Amino acid sequence: MHSVDKGYPPSVHELMAHSDLQRIPEAWRKDAIHLALNRCRDQQVYDVDRVAMEALLASRWMAPLPEVINLSGVLLHTGLGRARLHPEAQAALVRASAAVAVEFDIETGHRGDRQNHVENRLCELTGAPAAYVVNNCAAALMLALNALAEGGRVAVSRGEMIEIGGAFRLPEVMAQSGVELAEVGCTNRTRISDYQGVEGATAWLRCHPSNYRITGFTESPGYAEWVAAARDAGVRTVIDLGHGLLVDWREAGLPYEMPTPQVVASGADLVCISGDKLLGGPQAGILLGQTEAIAEVRKRPFARAFRVDKLTLAALAATLDLYRSGRWRETPFWESMLRPLAQVEAEAKALGGEVRPSLTEVGSGAAPGIGIETWCAVFTKDAARLSQELRHSEISIIGHIQDKSLWLDPRGATPEELEQAGAVLRRLT
Ligand SMILES: *Cc1c(COP(=O)(O)O)cnc(C)c1O
Repeated sequence: MHSVDKGYPPSVHELMAHSDLQRIPEAWRKDAIHLALNRCRDQQVYDVDRVAMEALLASRWMAPLPEVINLSGVLLHTGLGRARLHPEAQAALVRASAAVAVEFDIETGHRGDRQNHVENRLCELTGAPAAYVVNNCAAALMLALNALAEGGRVAVSRGEMIEIGGAFRLPEVMAQSGVELAEVGCTNRTRISDYQGVEGATAWLRCHPSNYRITGFTESPGYAEWVAAARDAGVRTVIDLGHGLLVDWREAGLPYEMPTPQVVASGADLVCISGDKLLGGPQAGILLGQTEAIAEVRKRPFARAFRVDKLTLAALAATLDLYRSGRWRETPFWESMLRPLAQVEAEAKALGGEVRPSLTEVGSGAAPGIGIETWCAVFTKDAARLSQELRHSEISIIGHIQDKSLWLDPRGATPEELEQAGAVLRRLT
């Protein structure tokens, strides 16, 4: 189509009807058009299609959660919403957005338990006697400590005094949960006898060092012997595991990490995991544990304050069903993790630029210092400008700058997204 620059701006009315702009939600279509017209007037650009294109770009900044294509080289990127949901989980989430029986028993017509279905699935998959879901893992940990040890002392190893993102530092979390912190052992070595040395402890806590590694002359007790010793001492146990790995990931070429079911099998009172890390589901905090401990959790005011919504429950149940039917490799996270290297190489080639080997990070502190072999499309010329243009294109494309070059890692994106990104790159380079 040839449109003509008539020398004066197109009308708002004409632009509102422009076919390219119909996909902008009506709520901010007019605002986007006004913004575009202002910009185009400054540059004396009056071609209707060019103004429409400008409006389309402007509209992206008005979207509450702008869509992106994640070529950053980090799969579970907290800034980009961590795990992407499987289409079946997406569909479940949309279905649950209607009126659904959440706390209502269809059988009896009386009040029901909102988490029944998700709890059954979690118990089946992890072997835990009971489970409870809250908003995120940070909330799960606060709730766990509050339920089992409020007003008491909790022993933690100096090697596990973690910070996960600015506002989540273990000592502060413990204070907010109403428990007193008792540090034990040393940064590199902590033994069971160190925990046993704490007078009047109510609970012992283990935290998975998610985002760092302590290597060299190190020692920490195995979960099972640690839980057994706590039981002998009459003390409760909480394990903040975070990652939520349900399978053996050596299949992806990664070093062994104990999957959640084995950690749960240690018999700890409560184990906390995230829903949107290695599980590949929606943001959620999952408490797995003994029936009595979960019953105590449910009674706390925090349980109500951290209550998870029906959309999360629906998406989580659908994600868990992929594991139950052996189809977990189809979740976007595991598909990315297990995508053959040769396929990734072909995808990098198709993006253009130079093809160079690199490592994809798992992200979210779920596997620090560990990467999966990948191939990136690398653009050496004007990397900062190209990076900015990609972020501002019709869909934001996110890469990362390294050695003054722009690196685009295809491993985290779908074939459709890569096709879209390829088209934008061909236009810009
Ligand atoms: C990631 C993580 C958390 C926080 O989880 P969110 O779901 O982001 O709240 C807490 N503890 C550990 C060990 C983690 O790895």
